[in-house]
Amino acid sequence: MHTHRCWLGTVLALLLCACEQREIPVHEFQFFAFGTLIELTIAGAESRSAQRAYRRIEKDFKTLDEDLYPWREGVLARTNRLLARGQPFTVDPMLVPMIDEATRLSRLSEGLFNPAIGALVELWGFTGGEPPQKPPPRKDIMRLVAEQPSMQALVFADRTLKSTNKALRLDFGAYAKGYAVDRGVKALRALGIKNAILNAGGDLRAYGRRGVRPWHIGIRHPRAPGVFASIEIDTDESILTSGDYERFFIYNRKRYHHVIDPRTGYPVRNAVCATVIRRSAAVGDATATALLVAGPDHWEALANSMGIDQAMLVDAAGNIHVTSKLRARIRFHVDPDRSIFTSVDP
Ligand code: ADP
Ligand code: MG
Repeated sequence: MHTHRCWLGTVLALLLCACEQREIPVHEFQFFAFGTLIELTIAGAESRSAQRAYRRIEKDFKTLDEDLYPWREGVLARTNRLLARGQPFTVDPMLVPMIDEATRLSRLSEGLFNPAIGALVELWGFTGGEPPQKPPPRKDIMRLVAEQPSMQALVFADRTLKSTNKALRLDFGAYAKGYAVDRGVKALRALGIKNAILNAGGDLRAYGRRGVRPWHIGIRHPRAPGVFASIEIDTDESILTSGDYERFFIYNRKRYHHVIDPRTGYPVRNAVCATVIRRSAAVGDATATALLVAGPDHWEALANSMGIDQAMLVDAAGNIHVTSKLRARIRFHVDPDRSIFTSVDP
C-alpha cells in the first residue's frame, strides 16, 4: 500500500513536470508611465511578436500619459486653460469619448467619482512626483468645494466644448490608467497576442492563460508588504484597486492621500482600499475610486446601483467587506473575518 502510494506520487510528479515543460514561454516587460510601473506579461507568443507588442504598448502609454497630464502641457492641460475662460472652443477629438464616458460614470456614481475636481487635486498637490508635506489651508479647500464643479457643467455643441462652471478642471487620474489598459489590450489582441496581463501599478486587465494555468493575480495588502488576497482569471477581466497607500503623506500623525471626497474636499477617511472586478478596466477604475469615497456605509448600495457584483472594501478599522459573488472566487491570505491590521500573514 505504502509503495503503491509512492508510485502514484511519482507519476503525479512526472505528470506535473511534463506540464511544466510543455509550458509556453512567458515574456515580461516593464516601463514607467502615469507615475507608476507598467508591466506587460505575454504568454505563448514568439519573442519577436512579444517585443513588437511591447514597443507598441510603451509608445501608446507614454503618449496618452503626456496628453492626459492635467497640470503642465499637453492636450488636457490646454483644455483646462480653455475651460477656465468659460467660452466655447474646439475640443481635441481624442477627449470627446473620454469626457462622455467619464460624465456617465460620474453621474452613475452620484458624483463620488468626479473628474471635474482637478482644482482640488492640484490644491492638495497630488500632481505626480513627490507628495506634498502638509494639507492646504482649510479656507482654500472650502472655497473650491463651494464652487461645486461637476461634469454636468460641460456643454458640447458641434465640435466645441465649454464649461458653465469656471472652477471646473478635468483630472482623469482615477480613470486614465484603466482607459489606457483597455486600449492597450485592444492593441495587443489586434497584434495577435492571445494571452497577456497589462498591469498599470496594480490596476490590470488579464486575458487568456499562462500556459496550462489561469493567470494568478494578487491584491496588495494596504499596510504590509505582499498580498492579502488573490484571484484567478482565465477569461478576460480587469481588477482595479483604489487605495490610500499609493500616494500619501503623514502630517501630525494623520494620513492624507490622493483620493478626495468631492463633498468635503478632504481625502477619504473611513476606508482604506476598494477593489472592483469588471470586464472594462476604465469602468472598473472609476468605480473603484467611487466605492472608496462611498466608504463602508454606502459602498454596497452604490456598487448595486452601478451594476457591480464583484467588489470589496477594506474599512478604516481593517475589516473586509466583500460581495457574495467575489467572496465565492477570491482566496484570502489573511483571516477575512478579522481586521487585516492584526491578522497579517507572515
Ligand atoms: P490610483 O491612481 O492609485 O489607481 P485612483 O484610481 O483612485 O487611484 O485615482 C486617484 C487619482 O484620481 C488622484 O490622484 C486624483 O488625480 C484623482 N482623484 C482624486 N479623488 C477623485 C475623485 N473623488 N473622483 C475622481 N478623481 C479623483
Ligand atoms: Mg480609480
